[in-house]
Amino acid sequence: MRIAVLSDIHANLVALDAVLAGIGGVDQVWHLGDVVGYGPEPDAVVDRLRTLGAVGVRGNHDAAAVGGHEIDYFNADARRAMEWTRKTIGAETRSWLAALPERRIERDFEMVHGSPRDPIWEYITTAPVARLNLEILTAPFCLHGHTHLPSVFRDEDGFIEMLSPSDRSTLLLDGRPILANPGSVGQPRDGDPRSSAFVLDTERLELTWHRVPYDIAAVQAAMRRRHLPDRLVERLSHGL
Ligand code: ZN
Repeated sequence: MRIAVLSDIHANLVALDAVLAGIGGVDQVWHLGDVVGYGPEPDAVVDRLRTLGAVGVRGNHDAAAVGGHEIDYFNADARRAMEWTRKTIGAETRSWLAALPERRIERDFEMVHGSPRDPIWEYITTAPVARLNLEILTAPFCLHGHTHLPSVFRDEDGFIEMLSPSDRSTLLLDGRPILANPGSVGQPRDGDPRSSAFVLDTERLELTWHRVPYDIAAVQAAMRRRHLPDRLVERLSHGL
Protein backbone atom coordinates (compact mmCIF):
# COMPACT_ATOMS: atom_id res chain seq x y z
CA MET A 1 0.00 0.00 0.00
CA ARG A 2 1.20 3.53 -0.85
CA ILE A 3 0.24 6.24 1.63
CA ALA A 4 0.74 9.96 1.00
CA VAL A 5 1.93 11.67 4.17
CA LEU A 6 1.23 15.41 4.02
CA SER A 7 1.74 18.18 6.55
CA ASP A 8 1.29 21.92 6.86
CA ILE A 9 -0.94 22.27 3.80
CA HIS A 10 -2.03 25.67 5.12
CA ALA A 11 -5.08 26.22 2.90
CA ASN A 12 -2.97 26.00 -0.26
CA LEU A 13 -5.22 23.99 -2.61
CA VAL A 14 -3.07 24.55 -5.70
CA ALA A 15 -0.07 23.04 -3.90
CA LEU A 16 -2.15 20.17 -2.48
CA ASP A 17 -3.47 19.21 -5.91
CA ALA A 18 0.01 19.48 -7.45
CA VAL A 19 1.40 17.14 -4.79
CA LEU A 20 -1.40 14.62 -5.20
CA ALA A 21 -0.78 14.59 -8.97
CA GLY A 22 3.01 14.63 -8.65
CA ILE A 23 3.49 11.70 -6.29
CA GLY A 24 1.46 9.22 -8.34
CA GLY A 25 -1.46 7.09 -7.21
CA VAL A 26 -1.86 6.41 -3.50
CA ASP A 27 -4.22 4.18 -1.52
CA GLN A 28 -4.54 6.49 1.49
CA VAL A 29 -3.78 10.04 2.56
CA TRP A 30 -2.54 10.87 6.05
CA HIS A 31 -2.03 14.45 7.21
CA LEU A 32 -0.09 15.85 10.14
CA GLY A 33 -2.02 19.03 10.86
CA ASP A 34 -2.03 22.72 9.97
CA VAL A 35 -4.50 22.01 7.21
CA VAL A 36 -5.58 25.68 7.34
CA GLY A 37 -4.05 29.05 8.27
CA TYR A 38 -1.90 31.42 6.11
CA GLY A 39 -3.38 30.33 2.76
CA PRO A 40 -6.38 31.41 0.68
CA GLU A 41 -8.57 28.28 0.36
CA PRO A 42 -9.34 26.66 3.72
CA ASP A 43 -12.79 25.32 2.80
CA ALA A 44 -11.60 23.83 -0.49
CA VAL A 45 -8.60 22.13 1.12
CA VAL A 46 -10.73 20.56 3.85
CA ASP A 47 -13.27 19.50 1.24
CA ARG A 48 -10.53 17.82 -0.82
CA LEU A 49 -9.16 15.97 2.22
CA ARG A 50 -12.64 14.91 3.30
CA THR A 51 -13.38 13.59 -0.21
CA LEU A 52 -10.13 11.60 -0.15
CA GLY A 53 -11.01 10.14 3.26
CA ALA A 54 -7.78 11.54 4.68
CA VAL A 55 -7.03 10.84 8.34
CA GLY A 56 -4.82 12.99 10.49
CA VAL A 57 -4.21 15.16 13.51
CA ARG A 58 -4.76 18.70 14.71
CA GLY A 59 -2.15 21.44 14.32
CA ASN A 60 -1.87 24.75 16.15
CA HIS A 61 -3.51 26.58 13.23
CA ASP A 62 -6.38 24.06 13.07
CA ALA A 63 -6.97 24.53 16.80
CA ALA A 64 -6.91 28.31 16.44
CA ALA A 65 -9.31 28.20 13.47
CA VAL A 66 -12.02 26.60 15.57
CA GLY A 67 -11.66 29.19 18.33
CA GLY A 68 -8.71 27.89 20.33
CA HIS A 69 -6.55 30.21 22.45
CA GLU A 70 -3.57 29.09 20.32
CA ILE A 71 -4.12 32.32 18.36
CA ASP A 72 -2.74 34.26 21.35
CA TYR A 73 0.74 32.89 20.54
CA PHE A 74 0.70 33.81 16.83
CA ASN A 75 2.79 36.63 15.38
CA ALA A 76 0.99 39.59 13.80
CA ASP A 77 0.83 38.17 10.25
CA ALA A 78 -0.28 34.71 11.35
CA ARG A 79 -2.91 36.28 13.59
CA ARG A 80 -4.30 38.43 10.78
CA ALA A 81 -4.49 35.42 8.46
CA MET A 82 -6.14 33.40 11.22
CA GLU A 83 -8.74 36.07 11.92
CA TRP A 84 -9.59 35.98 8.20
CA THR A 85 -9.69 32.15 8.29
CA ARG A 86 -12.05 32.16 11.27
CA LYS A 87 -14.46 34.49 9.49
CA THR A 88 -14.25 32.62 6.20
CA ILE A 89 -14.61 28.93 6.99
CA GLY A 90 -17.99 27.26 6.77
CA ALA A 91 -19.70 25.07 9.33
CA GLU A 92 -18.60 21.81 7.67
CA THR A 93 -14.96 22.87 7.66
CA ARG A 94 -15.19 23.94 11.27
CA SER A 95 -16.66 20.64 12.45
CA TRP A 96 -14.13 18.59 10.41
CA LEU A 97 -11.25 20.56 11.97
CA ALA A 98 -12.75 20.37 15.45
CA ALA A 99 -12.94 16.57 15.21
CA LEU A 100 -9.19 16.15 14.55
CA PRO A 101 -7.45 14.39 17.46
CA GLU A 102 -4.14 15.66 18.87
CA ARG A 103 -2.55 12.28 18.34
CA ARG A 104 -3.42 9.14 16.44
CA ILE A 105 -1.84 5.78 15.76
CA GLU A 106 -2.15 4.13 12.36
CA ARG A 107 -0.35 0.82 11.83
CA ASP A 108 3.15 1.27 13.36
CA PHE A 109 3.04 5.06 13.23
CA GLU A 110 2.30 7.63 15.90
CA MET A 111 1.07 10.79 14.17
CA VAL A 112 1.34 14.24 15.77
CA HIS A 113 1.71 17.78 14.50
CA GLY A 114 4.46 19.05 16.81
CA SER A 115 5.99 16.27 18.87
CA PRO A 116 4.96 13.26 20.98
CA ARG A 117 5.72 15.34 24.13
CA ASP A 118 3.67 18.33 23.02
CA PRO A 119 1.53 17.39 20.01
CA ILE A 120 0.42 20.94 19.23
CA TRP A 121 3.40 23.20 19.87
CA GLU A 122 6.84 21.63 20.24
CA TYR A 123 9.24 22.04 17.29
CA ILE A 124 11.59 19.10 16.76
CA THR A 125 14.68 20.74 15.26
CA THR A 126 17.53 19.63 17.51
CA ALA A 127 19.03 16.34 18.62
CA PRO A 128 18.34 16.89 22.36
CA VAL A 129 14.64 17.53 21.70
CA ALA A 130 14.51 14.57 19.30
CA ARG A 131 16.09 12.30 21.92
CA LEU A 132 13.50 13.19 24.56
CA ASN A 133 10.72 12.44 22.08
CA LEU A 134 12.25 9.20 20.77
CA GLU A 135 12.27 7.96 24.38
CA ILE A 136 8.51 8.26 24.75
CA LEU A 137 7.16 6.96 21.44
CA THR A 138 4.03 4.86 21.81
CA ALA A 139 4.52 3.22 18.38
CA PRO A 140 7.67 2.07 16.54
CA PHE A 141 7.83 5.20 14.37
CA CYS A 142 6.66 8.82 14.65
CA LEU A 143 5.40 11.08 11.86
CA HIS A 144 5.30 14.80 12.64
CA GLY A 145 5.26 18.23 10.97
CA HIS A 146 5.12 21.81 12.33
CA THR A 147 8.67 22.92 11.40
CA HIS A 148 7.91 23.00 7.64
CA LEU A 149 11.32 21.32 7.13
CA PRO A 150 11.74 17.79 5.74
CA SER A 151 13.78 15.90 8.33
CA VAL A 152 14.49 12.59 10.04
CA PHE A 153 15.90 12.03 13.51
CA ARG A 154 17.10 8.53 14.33
CA ASP A 155 18.82 6.92 17.29
CA GLU A 156 22.12 5.51 16.04
CA ASP A 157 23.55 3.56 19.01
CA GLY A 158 22.83 6.38 21.43
CA PHE A 159 23.87 9.11 19.02
CA ILE A 160 21.01 11.10 17.46
CA GLU A 161 21.47 11.31 13.73
CA MET A 162 19.69 14.06 11.76
CA LEU A 163 18.95 13.70 8.04
CA SER A 164 17.65 16.42 5.67
CA PRO A 165 15.91 14.55 2.84
CA SER A 166 15.63 16.18 -0.59
CA ASP A 167 13.69 15.24 -3.74
CA ARG A 168 13.63 11.44 -4.20
CA SER A 169 15.48 10.77 -0.92
CA THR A 170 14.44 7.40 0.48
CA LEU A 171 14.61 5.96 3.98
CA LEU A 172 14.25 2.31 4.80
CA LEU A 173 12.40 1.63 8.05
CA ASP A 174 14.74 -0.94 9.56
CA GLY A 175 13.15 -1.12 12.99
CA ARG A 176 15.11 1.67 14.66
CA PRO A 177 12.78 4.32 16.09
CA ILE A 178 12.60 7.47 13.98
CA LEU A 179 10.91 10.85 13.90
CA ALA A 180 10.07 11.63 10.26
CA ASN A 181 8.82 14.96 8.89
CA PRO A 182 7.52 15.19 5.30
CA GLY A 183 8.07 18.98 5.13
CA SER A 184 5.31 21.39 4.17
CA VAL A 185 2.90 21.16 1.25
CA GLY A 186 1.63 24.73 1.44
CA GLN A 187 4.48 26.86 2.83
CA PRO A 188 7.94 25.21 2.62
CA ARG A 189 10.66 26.92 4.70
CA ASP A 190 13.91 25.19 3.73
CA GLY A 191 14.75 27.59 0.89
CA ASP A 192 13.15 25.37 -1.77
CA PRO A 193 9.73 26.80 -2.71
CA ARG A 194 8.48 23.49 -4.12
CA SER A 195 5.94 21.56 -2.03
CA SER A 196 7.33 18.77 0.08
CA ALA A 197 5.77 15.44 1.10
CA PHE A 198 6.65 11.78 1.37
CA VAL A 199 5.08 8.51 0.32
CA LEU A 200 5.09 5.59 2.75
CA ASP A 201 5.31 2.23 1.01
CA THR A 202 4.04 -0.28 3.57
CA GLU A 203 5.29 -3.36 1.68
CA ARG A 204 8.84 -2.12 1.15
CA LEU A 205 8.82 -0.28 4.51
CA GLU A 206 10.24 2.76 2.78
CA LEU A 207 9.66 6.51 2.83
CA THR A 208 10.30 8.51 -0.37
CA TRP A 209 10.32 12.33 -0.26
CA HIS A 210 9.04 14.32 -3.22
CA ARG A 211 9.45 18.00 -4.12
CA VAL A 212 6.68 19.16 -6.43
CA PRO A 213 6.47 22.54 -8.18
CA TYR A 214 3.13 24.33 -8.16
CA ASP A 215 1.70 27.58 -9.55
CA ILE A 216 2.96 29.89 -6.80
CA ALA A 217 1.88 33.06 -8.67
CA ALA A 218 -1.73 31.84 -8.79
CA VAL A 219 -1.77 31.27 -5.03
CA GLN A 220 -0.16 34.65 -4.39
CA ALA A 221 -2.81 36.36 -6.55
CA ALA A 222 -5.57 34.59 -4.59
CA MET A 223 -3.96 35.70 -1.32
CA ARG A 224 -3.76 39.31 -2.49
CA ARG A 225 -7.41 39.28 -3.51
CA ARG A 226 -8.26 38.24 0.05
CA HIS A 227 -5.96 40.93 1.52
CA LEU A 228 -3.82 38.38 3.34
CA PRO A 229 -0.53 39.82 4.71
CA ASP A 230 2.15 40.70 2.10
CA ARG A 231 4.90 38.91 3.99
CA LEU A 232 2.92 35.64 3.83
CA VAL A 233 2.35 36.18 0.10
CA GLU A 234 6.02 36.89 -0.64
CA ARG A 235 7.56 34.09 1.38
CA LEU A 236 6.01 31.49 -0.94
CA SER A 237 8.36 32.66 -3.72
CA HIS A 238 11.42 31.97 -1.59
CA GLY A 239 10.35 28.90 0.33
CA LEU A 240 11.31 30.62 3.57
ZN1 ZN B 1 2.44 24.99 10.04
